[in-house]
Amino acid sequence: MKQKNLLYTGKAKSVYHTDVKGQFIVEFRDDITAFDGGKKDVLENKGNYNAEVSAFIFEYLENHGVKTHFVEMLDPRRMVVRELQMIPLEVIVRNVAAGSIVRNYPFKEGTKLDPPVIVIDFKDDSRHDPMLNDDLIVALKLATTGELAEIKKIALKINTLLAKLLTSQGITLVDFKMEFGRDGKTIYLGDEISMDSMRLWDKKTGESLDKDVYRFNKGDVMAIYNRVTARITKTANTKAAKKPAAKAPVKAGKKPVKAATIQKAKAVTKEAPAKAAARPKPKPAPVKTR
Ligand code: C5P
Repeated sequence: MKQKNLLYTGKAKSVYHTDVKGQFIVEFRDDITAFDGGKKDVLENKGNYNAEVSAFIFEYLENHGVKTHFVEMLDPRRMVVRELQMIPLEVIVRNVAAGSIVRNYPFKEGTKLDPPVIVIDFKDDSRHDPMLNDDLIVALKLATTGELAEIKKIALKINTLLAKLLTSQGITLVDFKMEFGRDGKTIYLGDEISMDSMRLWDKKTGESLDKDVYRFNKGDVMAIYNRVTARITKTANTKAAKKPAAKAPVKAGKKPVKAATIQKAKAVTKEAPAKAAARPKPKPAPVKTR
């Protein structure tokens, strides 16, 4: 596959046309931003960690019957994806109260939200991604009522699958953000699912294992991304990550996901042992009373 001209540059990813009809390349860059771009940095290897975790999660979801845009990894930071007509919604599922809902509503941080709460924001930086409701989404013609119902159903299924996977590694899925797109009438999960888009807490220590470490200067961001990547992708060998008995059919026109390409990506992402050993260990964050 040949990478062609740039289609779109986001805050941390770039999307390129390719010589293959219906497929794009997403490059995960090392840029990290927070607070609507108010805080910005470039952290070496960050793109690799997010690409590796995203590829791993997309593959896991595909194996459990969720349609995603993931096709394969070209190298540790470039992912081949299905071309989608993206829907400008940020679909957030929350299992525990944290972040903006604690700031904006009278929830105490750490309160379990059962059933999970779905919050949908309008993906529009110039308006600071305002929260939408179903009527607004339909009135703005962002999605039909039917699509919205389907998106919510898929979002909850992904939440259940992802929470199970992470629980098996001692990690609480506090909340996470998804973006969806259409190919014809079919809705696919797009974008990424990574430490930049999930809020993750260590079940034992309460330590943040995600972009909150960067947002709130809680420690060595890359050391934590490195460790959490290893923890999440290690679940490949656990029961939670295994394919269910009935195999998901391979989509027409879509190559099967190559686990080997992810492994290759992994090999490059991992730090050399000497370097990892030489680096001072990040101080554990104070135990939260969650
Ligand atoms: O900031 P807030 O608490 O609303 O974020 C909820 C979740 O959605 C967090 O996991 C956050 O990382 C993610 N998110 C995101 N991109 C945004 C807004 C939120 O990935 N633009």
